[in-house]
Amino acid sequence: MRVPVATKSHQYEVVLGYQFLTEALQVFADKLQKADKLIVFTDEHVWAAQGENFQANFPYPFDVFVLPNGEEAKTFEQYYAAHTFLLEHECSRKSFIFAFGGGAVGDVTGFVAATFMRGIPFIQIPTTILAHDSAVGGKTAINHPLGKNMIGAFYQPEGVIYDIAFLASLPEREVRSGTAEMIKHAMISDAAWLTELMTADSVIHFSTEALAQHLQKGIEVKSRIVAEDETEQSVRKFLNLGHTYGHAIEAAAGYGKVAHGEAVMIGLVYCLLLSERYGDMNRAFTTAFLQFAAKNGYPFDAVQHYSFDELVSYLMKDKKTEYGVLQFVLLQEIGRPFVKAIDVAECREVDAEFRQLLA
Ligand code: NAD
Ligand code: ZN
Repeated sequence: MRVPVATKSHQYEVVLGYQFLTEALQVFADKLQKADKLIVFTDEHVWAAQGENFQANFPYPFDVFVLPNGEEAKTFEQYYAAHTFLLEHECSRKSFIFAFGGGAVGDVTGFVAATFMRGIPFIQIPTTILAHDSAVGGKTAINHPLGKNMIGAFYQPEGVIYDIAFLASLPEREVRSGTAEMIKHAMISDAAWLTELMTADSVIHFSTEALAQHLQKGIEVKSRIVAEDETEQSVRKFLNLGHTYGHAIEAAAGYGKVAHGEAVMIGLVYCLLLSERYGDMNRAFTTAFLQFAAKNGYPFDAVQHYSFDELVSYLMKDKKTEYGVLQFVLLQEIGRPFVKAIDVAECREVDAEFRQLLA
């Protein structure tokens, strides 16, 4: 399966398949044969779980740089160490980097690729469900101790090779996390697809075929949006559905305690409550959605661990907050998102409603 991504700065393809790395790399054969060095960036978990499969199917000589897991990969120290690695391996602008891992590896690799010698080509080989989102669209970043993703660039890959076989070892929590972004993609684009997801026995244990189809749909939504708005001036904002409240939960818990997508799922329910006020959504749907999410193991008890006052300081830090007014993406109906400014007093009211619903 192929999904084209056509941004103003660059055009490329996401190719999706099962156990097809060697075949998928052929698209890039010309470029890779001309490259002076091929470097693979990955993290410890991914390399331990999937390194053998990768090596068996990667037909060119390469060197590997293994990052620490998860957010630990997105530090300035690792970013700097990555540049040192590339220099020590005598990489040049004719070298190629591969990001083999989840969103964390993808984000730091992309930023290294964007900045090493002012930019060298890179290819994303995602290994998580969440990366159907993060590997497409060209946002790259590392974290600063004062804020997540604060240092980065828009930099598009040469391509994305999504081999679902690499997802076999993904822990259930990470499956749950990434699936929330897929559900978000359905909510902003397609009511029939959302119904299909909500009526599935489980969204955590899809067959390979079903997973491939859902991932393809998610990638299509993301790719359509970034083609229209590469640098988040307009419609790309819709991808933030669930993220304002979600980020506050994620930050209050301490990054990594509640997985990103788990927090986003909590934020999606909060947005549904707001959408009852400003869109055509209703309580019956919100309740059904909450039941669906809880049935699939999303950890709503996290909300009870933090008071609204604790969350509010994180809400105020949101990049989109201005003068105490927060910007939320809401739904007129499923598939029709819009942006709405909400003041903190109303956020508090809806937060109380949310807690009652969870009680
Ligand atoms: P991740 O990359 O941190 O991976 C989650 C965990 O799963 C890690 O411990 C990793 O080592 C492990 N793992 C990954 N693949 C595995 C596999 N196949 N088998 C076994 N273990 C595996 O998390 P993620 O959820 O993929 O990405 C989250 C990151 O993505 C965050 O840093 C977030 O800021 C970023 N993000 C970026 C964008 C973007 O547009 N650039 C969008 C959303 C999220
Ligand atoms: Zn997200």
